[in-house]
Amino acid sequence: MNAPLKLGIVGYGKIAHDQHVPAIAANPDLELVAVASPHSRAEGLRNYSSLTEMLAAEPDLDAVVMAQPPQVRYVAAREALLAGKHVFLEKPPGATLSEVEALIALADERQVSLFASWHSRYAACVAATKAWIATHDLESVAILWKEDVRHWHPGQHWIWQPGGFGVFDPGINALSILTEILPQRVILRSATLETPVNCHAPIAAELTMETTAGIPLTASFDFRQPEPAIWDIMVKASGKTLVLGHGGNRLAIDDMVRSDIADDEYPTMYRHFVKLVRGRVRDVDLAPLHLVADAFLHGRNSPAEAFVE
Ligand code: NAP
Repeated sequence: MNAPLKLGIVGYGKIAHDQHVPAIAANPDLELVAVASPHSRAEGLRNYSSLTEMLAAEPDLDAVVMAQPPQVRYVAAREALLAGKHVFLEKPPGATLSEVEALIALADERQVSLFASWHSRYAACVAATKAWIATHDLESVAILWKEDVRHWHPGQHWIWQPGGFGVFDPGINALSILTEILPQRVILRSATLETPVNCHAPIAAELTMETTAGIPLTASFDFRQPEPAIWDIMVKASGKTLVLGHGGNRLAIDDMVRSDIADDEYPTMYRHFVKLVRGRVRDVDLAPLHLVADAFLHGRNSPAEAFVE
């Protein structure tokens, strides 16, 4: 019997509180020891204001979970890897590709695990969709990923800053599913980004993509969608239509609902992380981040009205 892995979380915000803490608590292979966050404090745990303080005071930590905004993730992940800790990165794994590539090299050099998590890939119906696509002739995929930023990201000013991703913060979840379910690589062909005149990141984006076999793929992301949110991926194949809905947690084929299961994304992700750490292997797939970077590289920018929360 292995001893539980001792974890520390960096960044005690919405996702750490809502998902990481309960998922860790429910897993007997894990023990949450401490949290490092500039202002927020977690009840019942040892709290530190910075990762540096946490590492100094908690030398027995096995792994560190990075749940802070992407702009500050690289420096912290590097510090944790240099201290010999395994690292779990929230999505997106970094603000740039080059910094995540540097983390991969460092993790390999230190022989510790690095996990770039993509929680939407663990949604209940993603694996079934991937299996269905593998046995049908793919014709097209259309993504609609639209939500009200004021409802889902209240007070998250970092999302509008450089490296905050704007609407790609949720949009990259759809791209993480897309790149998981398709048997071929995805190529970005064109993009349109609408950026509020007072922000540094887009509020809406339209992407045109294709597979290496030329199958057309589109994505429409929008932060101005009144509730309820739409997180749907429509797949046409062999004359049939599959709709992967509710962020990957509902599956309907030709309007017949095949499954509609409660989501178990974070518990499943933590079970995977335990295996990675025990095997001292990494799991870092940069495909979703490549598509976002390509959209910023090749996208046509149009100004949108100022965003006021
Ligand atoms: P959030 O509610 O704004 O929380 C981020 C937290 O990071 C804040 O509480 C802040 O701590 C902390 N922080 C800021 N700067 C820091 C620094 N330099 N060092 C350490 N901590 C720092 O954001 P969130 O929604 O939890 O999102 C965080 C990450 O999780 C993002 O990458 C996001 O894409 C991802 N994610 C979010 C969701 C979601 O539904 N919200 C879902 C999946 C993944 P203080 O409060 O102490 O200032």
